[in-house]
Amino acid sequence: MAERRNTIQLDAIKSAITTAGRPLSIEEILLESSKKVSTISLRTVYRVIRKLEEEGEVTAVTLPSQPDRYEPSEVADRHHHHFLCTSCDRLFDVDGCPGRLKSLLPDGFVLTEHELTLKGLCAACT
Ligand SMILES: [Zn+2]
Ligand SMILES: [Zn+2]
Repeated sequence: MAERRNTIQLDAIKSAITTAGRPLSIEEILLESSKKVSTISLRTVYRVIRKLEEEGEVTAVTLPSQPDRYEPSEVADRHHHHFLCTSCDRLFDVDGCPGRLKSLLPDGFVLTEHELTLKGLCAACT
């Protein structure tokens, strides 16, 4: 029976992450998944997320002075950027990339990767 409960909780947490269409914080995952399975606790979400991270299914999105968010690894593997709404604190995916960033570098420097987070107000907060 415990096994079955675990599977139901795991499925609810997985589906919260895959259907959100944007990276979710632990609190947001708890909120979403408990709409389906009301008994899910914060502890369970942490445990399941750690497991999904270890299995490579979910990737953490880390931002300075922000709680980690999580997105499906298949989304994380495609180069993209994020938008942080400074009013509601939700993080969104941004398609595309400005590119040509190496033109910003001093002479002799080599660019190997970049991270870019846009900030402002989302459509719901404007
Ligand atoms: Zn917002
Ligand atoms: Zn980029």
